[in-house]
Amino acid sequence: MPDTPHEQSDSGAAALAELPDRSCTWCKVPMMKRLVGDGKFIHYTCPKCIFQHTTKRESKKE
Ligand SMILES: [Zn+2]
Repeated sequence: MPDTPHEQSDSGAAALAELPDRSCTWCKVPMMKRLVGDGKFIHYTCPKCIFQHTTKRESKKE
């Protein structure tokens, strides 16, 4: 586990840090990411072309 001594005040923000990065298929730039579907899915949005991609989280079971 990473040794990040951050307080878990916001579970959403904390979870974002451990999400895998994804680059836009078209622009090759890092996409913005956020959790959707009660934290079960990762929603990526490209800041340039607004391409969107949603993937299911598979790392953890809660
Ligand atoms: Zn793009």
